[in-house]
Amino acid sequence: MLRQVADGVLIHESEFCQSNAIVVQGRAGVLLIDPGILGHEMAALANDLRELGQPVVAGFSTHPHWDHLLWDARLGAAPRYGTARCAATVRNLLSDARWKARIAQWIPPDIAPQVPLDLLGLITGLPAETARIPWDGPEVRIIEHQAHAPGHAALLIKERGVLVAGDMLSDVLIPMLDLNDTADPVEDYLATLRLLEGVAGDVDVLVPGHGSAGGADEARARIDQDRAYVHALRDAHALSDPRIGPLAKDGWDWVAGVHAGQLQRLVHRSESNGTPG
Ligand SMILES: [Zn+2]
Repeated sequence: MLRQVADGVLIHESEFCQSNAIVVQGRAGVLLIDPGILGHEMAALANDLRELGQPVVAGFSTHPHWDHLLWDARLGAAPRYGTARCAATVRNLLSDARWKARIAQWIPPDIAPQVPLDLLGLITGLPAETARIPWDGPEVRIIEHQAHAPGHAALLIKERGVLVAGDMLSDVLIPMLDLNDTADPVEDYLATLRLLEGVAGDVDVLVPGHGSAGGADEARARIDQDRAYVHALRDAHALSDPRIGPLAKDGWDWVAGVHAGQLQRLVHRSESNGTPG
């Protein structure tokens, strides 16, 4: 069930929203990034890793959204990391017992019983400005930014040429801005695209949080596509984006609704701020 995308880097795509779990092989075991969604998928992953003789020695959650914060006991008790800001956000959410109840409502009812929430979000924040994930394996650089979610991290595994993008640079999901408590979500997003563009020269394989992995050309094309989307959203221009409308992949027609919702909220924000854009 694991598919190799680069030397020592394997991914598993969930049935739910094409969520990608990423396995990076180290010296004494693996780093597991965004472990997955469904209990039986994580159990199968744990099984595969056991057969490979590769225990999970570290975990990492790219950002504080439920679909990136799950864990299954069968994956073991390795430390699960996130950025300090990600961990603080999760801690805050977990302190409200209603959060888990709300998540349970967001999960489509047909899969809800298969999503194990008991170990949700039990992550350790790395000290602010931590540059690399502390583990015994290839260097994994943390590129922290504020697009999409607080303390979101893209991860660059330079020696393997892999960029783990988290919830950006997807072929199925449009950029989803963090419209909750940020002063300038559009600029946060554009700044992050510039950050990722800055490392694109080191990328042979791009793995998004949801959707298909791609090569170097695809990474650059998706940076351009996401930027074009954000510009169109900012300027309320018409846009032709294959992820919205008739060209959207089967099962992804709801993304058009996400777009409509963002557009409406941004217009509302700029009206109440009295600023254009
Ligand atoms: Zn996600």
